[in-house]
Amino acid sequence: MIFLKTEDEIELMRAANLLVADTLTEIARNIRPGVTTRQLDSLAEEFIRDHGAVPTFKGYPNPYGGPFPASVCTSVNEVVVHGIPNDRPLEDGDVVSVDCGALLDGYNGDSCYTFCVGEVSADVKRLLRVTKESLYLGIKAALAGRRIGDIGYAVQRHCEANGYGVVREFVGHGIGKEMHEEPPVPNYGKRGSGVLIKDGMCIAIEPMITAGSPRIGIMPDRWTVKTLDGKCAAHFEHTVAVHHGKADILSSFAGIEEVEGKLY
Ligand code: MG
Ligand code: MG
Repeated sequence: MIFLKTEDEIELMRAANLLVADTLTEIARNIRPGVTTRQLDSLAEEFIRDHGAVPTFKGYPNPYGGPFPASVCTSVNEVVVHGIPNDRPLEDGDVVSVDCGALLDGYNGDSCYTFCVGEVSADVKRLLRVTKESLYLGIKAALAGRRIGDIGYAVQRHCEANGYGVVREFVGHGIGKEMHEEPPVPNYGKRGSGVLIKDGMCIAIEPMITAGSPRIGIMPDRWTVKTLDGKCAAHFEHTVAVHHGKADILSSFAGIEEVEGKLY
C-alpha cells in the first residue's frame, strides 16, 4: 500500500531529511586519508542521537543474516551499497558512498552521497558526476500524473549513454513512517510504465551506478554488495515529496557541496 502524505507529514519528513543532510555534512568535514569508516560511523551516530533522532540503519534486519551493525553504510570503491564500517584507514584516491538514515518524530530521512578521499582520478570523478546528474534527471521526471518507470528511464538513459552500468538488484523506495515503503523505485524502466505518481507520494530516488558491468555479488557478511568486475561504483540518493505536481527535494547536498567547494 502506498501512503500519501499530508502537508504536515511532508514537513516532518523534511525535518528528518535535513537532519540526515546535516549528518552527511559532518561526514564531509571529517572525511580524509587516514580516517576510518568506523570513525565516520561513530560521528554520524552521535550527531543523529544528539539531535533527538535514531539512526534507522542500526540493527536493521536482514532476512539472510544478522542485523546491520552500524549507523551508516560506508561503501568504498568497488562496494556498491551496504558496506559495513571498519578499521581500515581511508586512502588518497578512495571514494566512499555514505548512506544515512534517521528517524525523527516518527518520520524517516534517507540520503546518500559518494565522497572523494583526497585526490581522485578523473575517470572516477566523471562516474560521480554522471551518477549525481542522473539523480537530478530522475527527480525532474517525478511529476504527478507520470509514472515510476519515467524516473528509472531518465536515470538509466543518462548513465548508459555515458557507458556506465545500472544496478538492477537494489532500487529506490517509498518512505515515510517506515524507511522502506511502497512503491519500489527502480533506476531503470520504460517511459509510461509502473505506478502512477501522485501528490503526497514520498520516495527515495537512489541511482547505484557502476563504472563497468552492473553485475554485483553479495559478500559472505550478507550485507556488502560489490561489483563482480571490481570496478568502482557510485551512489547518490535524495528523498523527495511530490508536492504541487512536482518533486520537492526534502534532503539536501548544499552543506556537503559547500565543504567540497572549500576542499577541492
Ligand atoms: Mg539510503
Ligand atoms: Mg534509500
